[in-house]
Amino acid sequence: MKVFKFGGASVCSSPGIMNLAEIVKKENDHLVIVISAFGKTTNALEGILVAWYQGDKTRFQMVNQLKEYHLSICRELFPDGEVTLFSDLNYLFTELETKMETQPPAAFDFEYDQLVSLGEILSTKIVSFYLNSAGIPNLWTDSRSLLITDTTFRNANIDWSETATRMKDTFNPDNNRIYLTQGFIGGTIDGYATTLGREGSDYTAAIIANIMDAAEVTVWKDVPGIMTADPDEFPGPEKLDEISYQEAIELAYFGAKVIHPKTIKPLQNKNIPLYVKSFLQPEENGTAIKDKTAGKINKPVIIIKRNQVLISLIPKDFSFVIEESLSKIFYSFFKHKIRVSLIQNSAINFSLVVDNGNESLRNLMQELQNDFKVLYNDNVSLLTIRHYDSETIAKTMKNMQVLLEQRSRRNVRFVVR
Ligand code: ASP
Ligand code: MG
Repeated sequence: MKVFKFGGASVCSSPGIMNLAEIVKKENDHLVIVISAFGKTTNALEGILVAWYQGDKTRFQMVNQLKEYHLSICRELFPDGEVTLFSDLNYLFTELETKMETQPPAAFDFEYDQLVSLGEILSTKIVSFYLNSAGIPNLWTDSRSLLITDTTFRNANIDWSETATRMKDTFNPDNNRIYLTQGFIGGTIDGYATTLGREGSDYTAAIIANIMDAAEVTVWKDVPGIMTADPDEFPGPEKLDEISYQEAIELAYFGAKVIHPKTIKPLQNKNIPLYVKSFLQPEENGTAIKDKTAGKINKPVIIIKRNQVLISLIPKDFSFVIEESLSKIFYSFFKHKIRVSLIQNSAINFSLVVDNGNESLRNLMQELQNDFKVLYNDNVSLLTIRHYDSETIAKTMKNMQVLLEQRSRRNVRFVVR
């Protein structure tokens, strides 16, 4: 069995979906296809949710736009109309419209998952229907009753044993050769939708592969593979042909956006290779992520994480930053669920870099102000050069203002403005 995952960029238009069909058509093996919401649908649904909670009337217009976007793709895919599909979609949108008329409930994270999971339900219904009509028989399956999680809404944890039982039961190659399901979403044992965290579809593919002992996973992307830099940020990056799981985890940790960080572990545990390939050039090799036999990287890899905040903490009484104050600081970050991506300290100064745009960051900073003078620079970026050399550093850092630098044997990291 193989697992194919198609992200939002690959299914953002009718030609994209037709292209997906071409790729799937070439496969003869047992296949589970994992699909994300179309294009930027998840962002749109988040916007609708927030507008609803703020009592903003434009939410109705936003729902309409999203509906029109999906229906227009369907009209292009099915010029003759497909009554069952269209009535299915209309039903889902009517449900959403009706919900928008009501008062939003207090439990925001719970409601987020119920509403935002719609993106993947819509996309998979459409793609499954299209493949069936294009002579590629497949069975649509519902992740909300297959991928079972706890009730940590918006960042749910997998119930591996229940999920394994259900998936092994469902993805039976004797019944269907091709199964199609949603990335990113799951469900509680009581049947409520959950989500695995933004960009979580890769993780879904890895979970399925692990449970089903898949031969391989392919993530189809709009880039040729894993590159030595983001082509949107830096000129002339090269493709990496092969990297180890370890290397992939490090790159994802430093902020490489190609694969979701949680994806690697379920694959590494079963030694299942992960291919990152271009859906525009499906014949090309892409990047293979596999065990240690993978070739060593000898090229510098540049990773930039934008929208970061550099926080500096100075004890109010100018005492040293020692173990006791460190444990206090880390406990606060843990409590507010804020992930720290870099730390550096001196005798009386402790600096951290975290993602910006988090509501609880403000609460955290307030809390820290009890014991520390809190300074911060927002709108900075965290730039990592892995396997660095001096030439790459010089070229990359030209015209950058460096606020902090940290070097180890493999990595050099800069907080820049
Ligand atoms: N549609 C979800 C998101 O945009 C999941 C994914 O694309 O992986 O976050
Ligand atoms: Mg997406």
